[in-house]
Amino acid sequence: MLYHSTNNNSEKVNFREATIRGQAPDKGLYFPDTIPALSNQFLSSFKQKSKSQIAFEVIRPYVGDTITELDLFQICEHTVNFDFPLVKVSDNFSSLELFHGPTLAFKDVGARFMSRCLGHFSKSNSRKITVLVATSGDTGSAVANGFLGVEGVDVIILYPAGKVSKIQELQLTTLGQNITALEVQGTFDDCQQMVKQAFMDAELNAKHFLTSANSINIARWLPQQFYYFYALQQWQNEEPPIVCVPSGNFGNICAGLIAAVSGLPVKHFVAACNSNDVFTKYLSSGQLNSQQAVATISNAMDVGNPSNLVRLLEMFGNDYQRIKNFISSYSISDEETSATISRVYKDYNYTLDPHGAVAYASLEKYLASTPKGFQTLSGLFLETAHPVKFSDVVERATGVPIEFPESMKHLLHLQKKSVLIEAKYEALKSFLNA
Ligand SMILES: *Cc1c(COP(=O)(O)O)cnc(C)c1O
Repeated sequence: MLYHSTNNNSEKVNFREATIRGQAPDKGLYFPDTIPALSNQFLSSFKQKSKSQIAFEVIRPYVGDTITELDLFQICEHTVNFDFPLVKVSDNFSSLELFHGPTLAFKDVGARFMSRCLGHFSKSNSRKITVLVATSGDTGSAVANGFLGVEGVDVIILYPAGKVSKIQELQLTTLGQNITALEVQGTFDDCQQMVKQAFMDAELNAKHFLTSANSINIARWLPQQFYYFYALQQWQNEEPPIVCVPSGNFGNICAGLIAAVSGLPVKHFVAACNSNDVFTKYLSSGQLNSQQAVATISNAMDVGNPSNLVRLLEMFGNDYQRIKNFISSYSISDEETSATISRVYKDYNYTLDPHGAVAYASLEKYLASTPKGFQTLSGLFLETAHPVKFSDVVERATGVPIEFPESMKHLLHLQKKSVLIEAKYEALKSFLNA
């Protein structure tokens, strides 16, 4: 399998090169040259297969011969060694809980897969690889946890001081070993700007082998397909589901879409957005215009210019009508998000996190808009993080304190270790060169 750049101005590369580079030299995103079609044999038998086996069979054509089958199978086993339950919330709504991994968010899947692939490739790379990531919370903790102890790879995480939740900060700053947390005296945008500048600094890149670990990297993006298969394994209805995905940078939904293009039965996709509604507006107007990101209570989706939209367009051959037929999108305000958390807790005794709540409200709107009406169709939404990661917002909406999960209690006894730096590129550069 070869990958081309969505800007079509870089040479095609294999899975190994695309993973190590992250982004193509022409600043496009890598995209598979052909989307593999799942065989009828796989589609009629995957419901009986193990999670690792499904992951292995789905990802194998994308990886090609860059990793041996034995090693790839082990990477898959490691990636998905926790639960992905589909939980019935009400008569026609189910929640695909993606928060049972080590850092309580779906990003664990992509981060675990990518870290093992990069660790594997770094064995035949003469230089040490440095992963640089800016985070508003979830990405950094998943990446830090995924890469902990991976040989040949150092990880530097930039996070905005005072702007991540307590549990997120502990997850970021208490690991040690090959993980360093830089606490930046600024905003998430400052962190992202500093990282972007580092990738463009020729002098710095001559000294260090830098790569990124966000969803532009195919090794983080593609494994996010796995849990759509696990959802279908647990889906009881005759008709395929409507699948609703809370979306920010659109990596998660694009993974679901590529699985569907490969043959996974899904009736329709709903892209759930907060007030950052670039895609919602695109579907209603045909115009794609990036915006300034605005801050919301579902802050992992506060993205004004979603990177993966170029992949979405490419997947559908830039055909607006085809995209509209297969995907709908809604934009949910903070007020509606809080009201949804509160209502779903009261009516069904189910606690949503703010991102899951945006998805729940969007799915309601979609089902209400269909001619068949609310009663006969059913759908599932992705619950992308554990509510405890956003306990302030959730507790305010439900009025009930959230119990700190058992698996996280050890964090409370650990010592935070971070390096405080100014929100200036020079500060990052001198840290890296020291
Ligand atoms: C990152 C994140 C999202 C958005 O996912 P994208 O792939 O960027 O669209 C949604 N919910 C949570 C909890 C996240 O951490």
